[in-house]
Amino acid sequence: MEGLPIENYIPNYIKELIPYPPGKPIEELERQYNVKNPIKLASNENPLGPSPKAIEAIKLATKDLNRYPDGSAFYLKEALSNKYGISQEQIVIGNGSDELIDLLIRLFIQPSIQCITSHPSFLVYKKRVQSVGGENIIVPLKNFRHDLVTISKSVTDKTRLIFLDNPNNPTGSTISQKDFSQFLNDLPEDVLVILDEAYMEFCRDHDTPRGLEYLGKDSRIITLRTFSKAYGLAGLRLGYGIMHPNIASYIERIRQPFNVNTLAQKAAIAALNDTSHLEKTLQLTWEGINYLSKQLKKLGCKVYPTNTNFLLIDISLDAQTVYEEMLKKGVIIRSMSSYGFTNFIRVTIGTEDENKKFISCFKDVLKKLKK
Ligand SMILES: *Cc1c(COP(=O)(O)O)cnc(C)c1O
Repeated sequence: MEGLPIENYIPNYIKELIPYPPGKPIEELERQYNVKNPIKLASNENPLGPSPKAIEAIKLATKDLNRYPDGSAFYLKEALSNKYGISQEQIVIGNGSDELIDLLIRLFIQPSIQCITSHPSFLVYKKRVQSVGGENIIVPLKNFRHDLVTISKSVTDKTRLIFLDNPNNPTGSTISQKDFSQFLNDLPEDVLVILDEAYMEFCRDHDTPRGLEYLGKDSRIITLRTFSKAYGLAGLRLGYGIMHPNIASYIERIRQPFNVNTLAQKAAIAALNDTSHLEKTLQLTWEGINYLSKQLKKLGCKVYPTNTNFLLIDISLDAQTVYEEMLKKGVIIRSMSSYGFTNFIRVTIGTEDENKKFISCFKDVLKKLKK
């Protein structure tokens, strides 16, 4: 851009943004590390793949790809409204729940306006807030859980949004019903709480709030869900938000007219109807949690209880080194170093074979590093 004074046009809060850390494509890793069929346990995806019914629906829909998508996502909203017994005016569909996070932040956050998030939690919240020049108020987790008391004390008259990923990414922990009730009691009526329930399908903790229970009762609560995790459709990009119709109507005004593509809409409806694929996914995940937790404990690691499809593990070794050693063996995991957790890794539950491969490679890496 030499000769163009564009640097002056860009606000400092955008210049200071760090791009979301991209992963390498699997094919690239195969080449670079010379490994065959690497396994990816880094992004909390469904190892079984999409529902076969979703794949069928996608194939059928390809012939209509010359047409624009249904901008109102009519049938998908209808399917969701039937599933949950709610009205379509309470539902917003997004190109991933990422887009809904972005839209909510664009709707409510401006320079000098505050958004509260926990650290660590999903990275996208803070980056989106920064991209509109808002102020991030960051409250550390306490005992690996959202510290609702401190969050509540951090609210000022400039606070509009609080993001709570429940269950939390990357710890897998949940909020208790009692703590949440107290939190809502203490919270001003003009502060919105976004419950990001990306992993709620996996959650076996009955003592944690589900956002849906508050619909029609507490209009401060917005629930986000996604088809990327339990439903195995991460590549299609599809999420939905459930909220007071007033808020929904503002999101409808600022979103792009065709934000959710045709294949995603068709696949999602089919996936919602395929309860057997979902059940298979949950069963596999829960068995994998048992297996991996047991094996990892035997190896002297500390495994944190999880309500998701991933495990946070304290390996008492430098996580970045272990990440790189595992990569050489064709196992992609997540190092938590960038979150400031230098001895922690996050591992997605895979298929039975993938979990076994992870354990056997991890054993080898431990042997090598502890020599
Ligand atoms: C994966 C994840 C999402 C993103 O979901 P998309 O629908 O794929 O955008 C949102 N929140 C949390 C906490 C996640 O881990």
